[in-house]
Amino acid sequence: MEFDKNKECKWYCCCPMRIYYEKGLLNEKYIEDYCFGNHDKCIRYQMEESGKYHPDNMLPDGTIDKTLK
Ligand code: SF4
Repeated sequence: MEFDKNKECKWYCCCPMRIYYEKGLLNEKYIEDYCFGNHDKCIRYQMEESGKYHPDNMLPDGTIDKTLK
């Protein structure tokens, strides 16, 4: 699907969610809702902004997905 480039999250370039998505491991809904939607509500985004550690397999809603490596 086509995403609205104007809404792209500033971290999308280097976010592990992008890598998982491009590998087909992550539901597109996350990319649509957060990375090209409301990234302010993304827990990863919030933690990035405040310099807090967060693992690569933490989803935008803050849950850990152990199937992602
Ligand atoms: S997962 Fe969050 S921090 Fe990463 S690109 Fe998407 S909105 Fe930005």
